[in-house]
Amino acid sequence: MDRDRRITREELKAALYEAYRRFKGNTDGKNADYIPYLANVDKDLFGISICLKDGEVLTVGDCNYRFGIESISKVATALLVLKEYGPETIIDMIGADATGMPFNSILAILLENEHPSTPLVNAGAISAVSMVSPVGNSRGKWEAIKDNIDRLCGSEVTLIDELYRSESVSNHNNRAIAWLLKGYDRIYDDPELSLDLYTRQCSLGVTATQLSTMAATIAFGGYNPVTKRRVFPAALSEKLTSMIASVGMYEYTGDWMFRTGIPSKSGVGGGIIGVLQSDAYIKQTTYAGEILAHYRGTGGFVGSIYPYQPTVDHDHDGATQKFIVDGKEEVYYKNNDQAAGVVGTANQAVNANQCNLEIYESSFTGSI
Ligand code: GLU
Repeated sequence: MDRDRRITREELKAALYEAYRRFKGNTDGKNADYIPYLANVDKDLFGISICLKDGEVLTVGDCNYRFGIESISKVATALLVLKEYGPETIIDMIGADATGMPFNSILAILLENEHPSTPLVNAGAISAVSMVSPVGNSRGKWEAIKDNIDRLCGSEVTLIDELYRSESVSNHNNRAIAWLLKGYDRIYDDPELSLDLYTRQCSLGVTATQLSTMAATIAFGGYNPVTKRRVFPAALSEKLTSMIASVGMYEYTGDWMFRTGIPSKSGVGGGIIGVLQSDAYIKQTTYAGEILAHYRGTGGFVGSIYPYQPTVDHDHDGATQKFIVDGKEEVYYKNNDQAAGVVGTANQAVNANQCNLEIYESSFTGSI
C-alpha cells in the first residue's frame, strides 16, 4: 500500500458525491415534532458541506437551504462565554461534564445541583446565555450572540421568525429548567430574558455551508478559513472541541465517538457539525457517510446510527487499519494536517467526514 499517497481534491469530491448518492434516499428517522415548526420541515432535504483549510467549501445537495441551527448554537455561545470569562470560570459557573442524559433533562440538574453540567445541554446553554455581556440588556446580549455566530459562519445568519414563535410557545420544559437553575444560583441574569435569548439563538436560520464554515473555524484554531479572520483565540479551540467530543451528541456521544471518531454536535433542526483537528485519524468519506447518514436530527435522538458491526482486521505493519464493512474493505487514513469540518442539512442530517488535501494512509492506533 502506498502510504504517502495524497487524496486529491477530485477524490475528495468523488467521495462526497458518493456519500450523498448512497444516502440521499434514506428515509429512516423522523422530524422532531415537540417544536411544531420542525415537524413541518421537508424531510427530504439533504446536503453535505465540507469546508477546507484554504477556504474552499465543497457542497452537495441542499446546502443553501436555511434551517434552524438549534443546539449547534450552544457551541457558539459556549465559545462566547469561554472568551469572556476564561475556561476556569466556565468550569466553575457551568461545568464541562457530560450528563449522560437527554438534552433537556431536569433529572440531570437535580442530580448535579451544583452545576448545569455543560454549556452543550439545555441547562448549561441557558446558563451560558445568562452570562453573556451586557448582563440585563437583552438587545446588547442578542447582538453579541448573533455577531459571534455570524463570524463563525463566515456570513450573516438571520432569525427564522416562525420557528422562534413556534419554539417560544412550546418551550415549557426549558422554562422549568431556567427557573430551577435560578433556585440553584446558576442563572446569572433574569431567567425569562435568558430563556428568551436561548430560544432565539436556537431559531437562527443557517445553511449547511455556513455550518461547515463554523466547524472549520473551530478545527482551525479560531481562524475562519472563508473570511480569513480570527474569530477566537486558538487556545479555546481544544476546550470547545473537548466539550463537543464529550457531550455533543448528548447521551449517545460515547457510542458516536467510538463509532465515528468525529467530535460532533447535533441540532434538532437536522444539522450536525463535525470537527476534526490536527492529527486526527479520518476515514474515507464514503464510510463516514455511511455511519453518519443513519443519524437523523430527530428530537436529539440518534436512531440506528450503525446498523452493522464492522469486523476489525489489524494490518500487520500497523500503518493502516482496515475495517471490513458489509464484506467491503474500508481503510482508515491519517490526516497529516489540520482538517475540518462539516456539514448540516435539514432533516436528513449527515455529517460528512472533514477533509483537507493532506491526507495520508497511516496508523489508526493514535487517538484524535
Ligand atoms: N431549542 C431546542 C430545545 O431547547 C434545542 C434542542 C437540540 O437541538 O438538541 O429544545
